[in-house]
Amino acid sequence: MKKVDEVFSSLPVTVVGSYPASPSPEEMMAAYHEHEDPFIPALERAVTAQLHAGVDVVSDGQTRADMVAIFASKILGVRMKGRPVVIGDLEFVKPITVDDTVLTQKVVDEYPGRSVKGIITGPYTMAMSVGDQHYLDIKELSFAMAKVINQEAKALQSHVPIIQFDEPFMSQDYPDYADELIGVATEGLDVMVGLHSCGDVSNLFDKFVELPVDLLDHEFATHPGLLDVVADTDFEQNIGLGLVRSDKPDLEDQDAVAGALRKACDALGPERIMADPDCGLRHQTPVTARQKLDLVVNTRNTVRTELGSD
Ligand SMILES: [Zn+2]
Repeated sequence: MKKVDEVFSSLPVTVVGSYPASPSPEEMMAAYHEHEDPFIPALERAVTAQLHAGVDVVSDGQTRADMVAIFASKILGVRMKGRPVVIGDLEFVKPITVDDTVLTQKVVDEYPGRSVKGIITGPYTMAMSVGDQHYLDIKELSFAMAKVINQEAKALQSHVPIIQFDEPFMSQDYPDYADELIGVATEGLDVMVGLHSCGDVSNLFDKFVELPVDLLDHEFATHPGLLDVVADTDFEQNIGLGLVRSDKPDLEDQDAVAGALRKACDALGPERIMADPDCGLRHQTPVTARQKLDLVVNTRNTVRTELGSD
């Protein structure tokens, strides 16, 4: 299993995914009259904000819709009327996130040394978030989702050094077939694979380490006790270390954030750590989101200097 610093720089900073940027009324008007895509300027704003903050591995900002609708609306067999509902066999039609990932890479090209993260909502979270009038069995639906999602991941992997699967539902209701399910979703991938699951996974961490992924990303700021559990667990994966809360606008104390990062470096080795906010920043204002990223980057810079590895 590759370590984070073999793929990226030492102690890279990333984001979980969503970023507060939406089309302005003028952009929506231009889109209506000139048939332009109003989400492209929003994507560029989200990506530029991350780059200016010093984020090493950026996302496209997931500005088009929420993490379920972005995918559900493009999968054959799903009816989009309010809540997505599965009404037939699920089928992959064409790549869903590749175009926005390529656009993101074009913005990132101006910033040497930075990379783009591919982000896909995981099969279990997709299955738990949609209505189902067809499979009528959560396990069967999850595996059907996993096959579609695997095709998306295979289309995406030639464009990115890392693909992250988002599985927030796994922290609430961990399925006993998670290992096999993530195996289907990640089959044939050669890039680094991460899995983000927000919520308190302290009692489940020994299960997460069994999953066939290279990196586990969790909310360490919201659930500070998790770091002790991780430090006491013997496992191979890299860790995505959430250092600031995404659900609250208050800025964390930098000494406390640095303390958590130092503790993780001591326990796991800095070569296995990527620093990020706990979850997507969609619910914060652009100003707050930027302050949170600045805090993560500044703290990383301090600790990296202490370690003598910058
Ligand atoms: Zn999350």
